[in-house]
Amino acid sequence: MTFDLTVLGSAGSHTGPGRACSGYLLRSEGMQLLVDAGNGSSANLQTITRPDELDAILITHRHVDHCVDLIGMYYALRFHPDGPRDIDLYAAPEVVDVLTGLLSRDSALGFREVFNVHEVDPGDTFDVGPMHVELIHAVHPVPTVSAGIEADGRRVVYSSDTAGSDELAEFAHGCDLFLCEATWQGDTRGYPPDMHLTARDTGRLARRAEVRRLVLTHILGSLDRSISLEQAAETFPGDVTLAEDLRSWLLT
Ligand SMILES: [Zn+2]
Ligand SMILES: [Zn+2]
Repeated sequence: MTFDLTVLGSAGSHTGPGRACSGYLLRSEGMQLLVDAGNGSSANLQTITRPDELDAILITHRHVDHCVDLIGMYYALRFHPDGPRDIDLYAAPEVVDVLTGLLSRDSALGFREVFNVHEVDPGDTFDVGPMHVELIHAVHPVPTVSAGIEADGRRVVYSSDTAGSDELAEFAHGCDLFLCEATWQGDTRGYPPDMHLTARDTGRLARRAEVRRLVLTHILGSLDRSISLEQAAETFPGDVTLAEDLRSWLLT
């Protein structure tokens, strides 16, 4: 059995130079789970697979840098050359309302036919083939989940957007790959509370969780990412690297 992760978008809040917003493809035994669909990420997705070849999609929250590319994917699925396709969509509260609010009445109805919507909350679990997905509460201004995805005895934890929490440190404990947001740099002072992590915060969280590998993502699109990497490495002594669009990790 194999289990791999490919980054489709690594920029936080807005796109960066040549970088899309949040999107991650997880694959095991031919099954494909897309986690988040931020602006630009579906263009990268289509260099690997097609929207109609996905088995399920998880959207962690309603912010556009995590969900807006579902609009384009909706059209790709509804007007597929071989007829409409449907797909399971696991979505945090308010995601579908925000997206259908951007569509005409007809398209909004069609959206719910193309996507088999399952609204998810912290504590929920679901399976996509051999991939088992668990969700917990993330600390963010809108309903948001962090996700643990396990297959082949390996576990990836994706923070989505969140401030630090005891719950996330416990949830990520000992995971093989911690894909964690590091939106900001420097000191948290001056930033809004309960929203995001700085790179040093991310390193501290990963250290506390004793993760095997830390991958920094969702770095604000306008920042120099090498500084984020340096700052995370100050507080996390282990294996830390930057998420890059279209970079993959094989979980072994
Ligand atoms: Zn975000
Ligand atoms: Zn957000």
